[in-house]
Amino acid sequence: MRYVSTRGEAPSRDFQSVLLAGLAEDGGLFLPESWPEFSAAEWRALRGLPYPELAARVMAPFAEGSLDPATLLGMTRRAYAGFGHLATAPLVQIEPQLFALELFHGPTLAFKDMAMQLLGHLFDHVLAERGERVTIVGATSGDTGSAAIEACRDRAAIDVVILHPEGRTSEVQRRQMTTVLSPNIHNLAVQGSFDDCQDLVKAMFNDAPFRQEMQLSAVNSINWARIAAQVPYYVYAALALGAPDRPVAVSVPTGNFGNVLAAWVARRMGLPIERLVIGANRNDILTRFLAANDMSVQGVAPSLSPSMDIQVSSNFERLLFELLDRDPVATADTMRRFRADGRMPVPDAAWKQATTLFHGHAVSDEATLEEIRRLHRDSMYLADPHTAIGTAAARAHRPETGIPVIVAATAHPAKFPDAVEKATGIRPPLPPRLADLFAREERFTVLPNALEAVEAAVRGHARRNSR
Ligand SMILES: *Cc1c(COP(=O)(O)O)cnc(C)c1O
Repeated sequence: MRYVSTRGEAPSRDFQSVLLAGLAEDGGLFLPESWPEFSAAEWRALRGLPYPELAARVMAPFAEGSLDPATLLGMTRRAYAGFGHLATAPLVQIEPQLFALELFHGPTLAFKDMAMQLLGHLFDHVLAERGERVTIVGATSGDTGSAAIEACRDRAAIDVVILHPEGRTSEVQRRQMTTVLSPNIHNLAVQGSFDDCQDLVKAMFNDAPFRQEMQLSAVNSINWARIAAQVPYYVYAALALGAPDRPVAVSVPTGNFGNVLAAWVARRMGLPIERLVIGANRNDILTRFLAANDMSVQGVAPSLSPSMDIQVSSNFERLLFELLDRDPVATADTMRRFRADGRMPVPDAAWKQATTLFHGHAVSDEATLEEIRRLHRDSMYLADPHTAIGTAAARAHRPETGIPVIVAATAHPAKFPDAVEKATGIRPPLPPRLADLFAREERFTVLPNALEAVEAAVRGHARRNSR
C-alpha cells in the first residue's frame, strides 16, 4: 500500500515511512492511494475474534508490503494487553438502539490509547529495524499528550516533547503527562490555546532544517497510523450489532476530526455505516459547516469537554480531499485560502455530499450536564462530558429507521470528575492503577507562545538525537 499527500506535492510513501513522517513535506496529510474494501463474507469472518486479532486483520491492508501480518498481530496483542478490560473496547447498551463503545480502558483512560499504545510498538519496531531515532513532537488539548507519553515512555529510540496550553487541561489530564518522569519525556506548558500549540507544532514541521536536525515525528491525529488504528473498533462494534447484514449509525464527540474520520474509513472499506453523527461543544466549527457550509474560525472557548476545545479540525483536510474527488490542487488551494481568510471555501456540491452522510449537533455545557444526569438517572450509566455529547448528538439525529447507534465513549468518567459530580452527585473514583496520581511529583516547563522559545526547548531536550 502506497500513501499520497492531500496536497499532491510530496512523493508517495509506504506505511512505515508515513508512520515516521506524520505530516507530508508539502504540508498535506497522507491517505492511502486506494481504499481497501472488504466483502460481506470477509466482514463476517471477523465476527467473534478477540479484539487484537480483529485489529490486526482490519489494519493489514494498510500495512501491506511494509509489515507482515504476523508482526502486526504480535504488536496488537502487546498493545492491548495492558488494558483494564478483557474485551479491550466493550460495547455497553444504554438505551434501546443506543450503545456506548467504551474506548477508555487503556492506561490514560481516554480513547487515544486505542491508537497510541499500538503506535508505541510500531515506532519501536520500525526504528529498531532501521537503526534510527526520532523526536516526537505533539500538541495536546489534554488526552493526546498523555496517551503519547504512556505509549513512548522509556523507549530508547524516542524522545517525546509535548506542548499543552497552560492551565487549559484538567488537572487529571495535566498530571497524567507531567508526572511521567522518564528521561525521554518532556512537557512544555505554552501560554496560549490548544490551537496555538498546534500551530507551533506545524511551524516546527514546516521548518525543514529544524525538522531534519531533530528527526521530528508526529503522533497527533494527523498521523495516518493513528487513524488506521482507530478503524478496527468501529468494525468490532458494528459486527457485534449485526453488520454487515444490518446497517448501523455512529456518533462521535469530535475535536480534530480524527476519530470520526476513522469511522468514515470503515464505511469506505465497505462497513454499512449509514450515518455519521458529529457531536461538538460550543466550539462548533464542524456543526456550523454541516448546517450552513460555514467553516469559519472563531476563537476557542473553554468548555466542560476540553479535548474538543478546538477550532481547526486538522483531519478535516482528508475528508475535504475525498469530497473534492481527490484533487490535490483544489485541496491545497482550499487549505491555503482557509489559512489566509479563516474561512474555508467548500464548493456547494461537496458540502451537499458531506451533509448526506454527516449530521452535526452542538451541545452547550448546561445540556452536557443535563445529559450526564439523564444517562445516570435513566440507565445508571456514568458518562464523562465528551461521551455525553456523543449520546446527546446521537439522540438529536437518531435514524428514523431504528437502526442501532454506536456512540464513541471517549473518556472514563473519572477523568472529568468535577462535571460528573456536578451532574449526578457522584464523584467517580480513579481506577486503582491511577489512585495516587495527585500525590506524584510533576515536571514541566512554562514557555511563551513563541516559535523560537519552543524550538530552543525542543533542541535542548532532543540533544540525545543529534549525532
Ligand atoms: C481527543 C478526544 C476527542 C476528540 O477526538 P478527535 O479525534 O480529535 O476528534 C474526544 N473526546 C476525548 C475524551 C478525547 O480525548
